[in-house]
Amino acid sequence: METLVIERSGIGGQAGSTERIDNYPGFAQGISGADLADQMREQAERFGVELLIAQTVASIDAGDEDGGVRTVVTESGDQYRAPAVLLTPGTRYRRLNVPGEDDFIGAGVHFCATCDGPFYRDMDTLVVGGGNSGIEEGLFLTRFASHVTVLEVGDRLRASQVLQDKAAAHPQMDIRLNTTVREFRGDGKLSSVLVEDVNTGQQDELHPAGVFVFIGLDPNTAFLADSVELDERGFIKTGTGMETNRHGVFAAGDVRAGSTKQVAAAVGEGAAALISIRGHMEQEIRNRGYAGD
Ligand SMILES: Cc1cc2nc3c(=O)[nH]c(=O)nc-3n(C[C@H](O)[C@H](O)[C@H](O)COP(=O)(O)OP(=O)(O)OC[C@H]3O[C@@H](n4cnc5c(N)ncnc54)[C@H](O)[C@@H]3O)c2cc1C
Repeated sequence: METLVIERSGIGGQAGSTERIDNYPGFAQGISGADLADQMREQAERFGVELLIAQTVASIDAGDEDGGVRTVVTESGDQYRAPAVLLTPGTRYRRLNVPGEDDFIGAGVHFCATCDGPFYRDMDTLVVGGGNSGIEEGLFLTRFASHVTVLEVGDRLRASQVLQDKAAAHPQMDIRLNTTVREFRGDGKLSSVLVEDVNTGQQDELHPAGVFVFIGLDPNTAFLADSVELDERGFIKTGTGMETNRHGVFAAGDVRAGSTKQVAAAVGEGAAALISIRGHMEQEIRNRGYAGD
């Protein structure tokens, strides 16, 4: 098989920009995301994979229903044709989209407790979002921070009962319901956060050292339009063998509906999809005598 990887920024995705990955098999002492990405790139190149970086895929044409050529078109207008396409565009963290958020990213506003939590040893922190991620990451933050306040815009937490019970019993955690962030304030570095009770409109200025935002993930699937079936949140639906509803088009990793959002899981899904792709291509060659162009 000849394989082309098209990547809009640098090889490694979200894992590549993660400070440290401690739960990927084979690296007993953990590994920095950048080093893991470098090693994966080197290994792919050793097997002849062609890497096309700084090219964004703008659309795909999934071809006809029962087989044939799939076409991938980049923003620069180049077209790449193949008998099989594997979609792995991943996700991005949802933002609050309030004033100041962009200004303080990395300087008081964060999206990963594992990565940035240790900077807040013995300090007060705020977590925005009372779902599973918010509570899990909030509990994790209590290892470093002296206190963690979780803001939830709804009138109850959305996290599982087990997590809610842990949070309620934790002496360093408290929860504020019906509360959202209106603004991040500061000068170069975050100094305060304007929050609002969504029922009463009452505003309050809080002074946490750091804020961690966990209000969900959005899939990077806008470019797919309606070329493959997505779930109601925009994640790609797959069936047996990681195949989408379009024959010969597969999906793996964080973008796949129901995926685990871990590096080991994403890699495993990629390997499973590859086995299906090999079977698909053998079938195509048998049916059509077609081996790609
Ligand atoms: C801060 C942080 C810390 C994490 N820590 C851990 C951890 O410790 N352990 C762990 O197991 N997991 C961790 N994760 C999760 C892990 O990074 C992901 O599960 C994994 O990276 C998913 O891989 P993926 O290939 O599916 O997607 P991604 O890593 O998101 O990669 C998708 C790639 O597709 C590219 N792309 C998107 N759209 C297009 C397009 N139209 N054209 C071309 N390219 C495109 C993107 O630029 C990106 O490089 C962490 C995630 C984050 C954000």
